Amino acid sequence: VVKEARRNNYKLFDNSIAEDFKKMLLMESDLRRAVKENQFELHYQPQKNIKTGKLVGMEALLRWNHPEKGYIPPTEFIPLAEKSGLIIEIGDWVIRKACEQNKKWQDEGFEPITVSVNLSAKQLHQKDFVDKIKRILEETGLESKYLELEITESMAMSNEEYILRTLRELRKIGVNVSIDDFGTGYSSLKYLSLFPVTKLKIDKMFMDDTLNHNKQIVKSIINMSHSLKMRVIAEGVETEEQMKFLENEKCDEIQGYYFSKPLPPAELKDFLPVV
Ligand code: C2E
Ligand code: MG
Ligand code: MG
Ligand code: MG
Repeated sequence: VVKEARRNNYKLFDNSIAEDFKKMLLMESDLRRAVKENQFELHYQPQKNIKTGKLVGMEALLRWNHPEKGYIPPTEFIPLAEKSGLIIEIGDWVIRKACEQNKKWQDEGFEPITVSVNLSAKQLHQKDFVDKIKRILEETGLESKYLELEITESMAMSNEEYILRTLRELRKIGVNVSIDDFGTGYSSLKYLSLFPVTKLKIDKMFMDDTLNHNKQIVKSIINMSHSLKMRVIAEGVETEEQMKFLENEKCDEIQGYYFSKPLPPAELKDFLPVV
């Protein structure tokens, strides 16, 4: 009986792995088609300066508008895009689209703001990445200071000379670099102080104010950012109480549902500051 049960368990186990694998292959072919047929969209989430109340930037967030399944969130397909290598092509599209859109709004007469774009490690590892960025800026006509690239803490702390060099080159041409989801990884403070970044983005998990120690962590990150001459933005701000706390602690910017969720371009336009 034990043997039998074990055999069945193994079988179950095998089946579910096979199922998962089949699903993954299906999704990968869907994703390839999505790239070819351009089923992607960018939504933009406003970022506000707390002190002035003005919109200063927006984060471009990728959406896959699947012909049968509707919108698929990035958390469900970015990992696969990374594994399959499709992230390069998708990522190129994201950067170009975000720059194009930002420039378009500037040309329409809105006050210039920054657009930030999320990067995957694979993108940053491309040998020609900086040249690619230069080319996109040139072809879209967007000034480098209106582009920000978001990297994760683990990418920043990877300790690879190559990453450091790439980021320094990006800073040299005037592109902003921020560390996303800050506080969730393992940062070496010494390394951080040498790091060519302009902004830290406090991860939204620290906005959970039911945990008292989160307030202490947020305060520490804000103070540390400022001593390192970096700006700091809080992500995932959902309530007035959180906003007030951040204002009090001199956080520079906020991003979150309290102000606005990510919006399609036509709706974001209503938030844009007029010169
Ligand atoms: P992220 O870069 O940390 O983006 C912030 C995420 O938090 C977004 O989820 C956003 O919709 C969500 N969010 C914003 N405000 C709030 C809030 O007040 N409360 C809560 N609970 N959530 C909020 P989204 O759009 O589903 O994106 C998830 C992640 O997918 C992003 O996290 C980013 O890591 C990744 N991602 C998105 N677009 C791209 C892309 O173009 N390239 C790459 N490589 N990754 C991307
Ligand atoms: Mg981000
Ligand atoms: Mg984040
Ligand atoms: Mg993230």
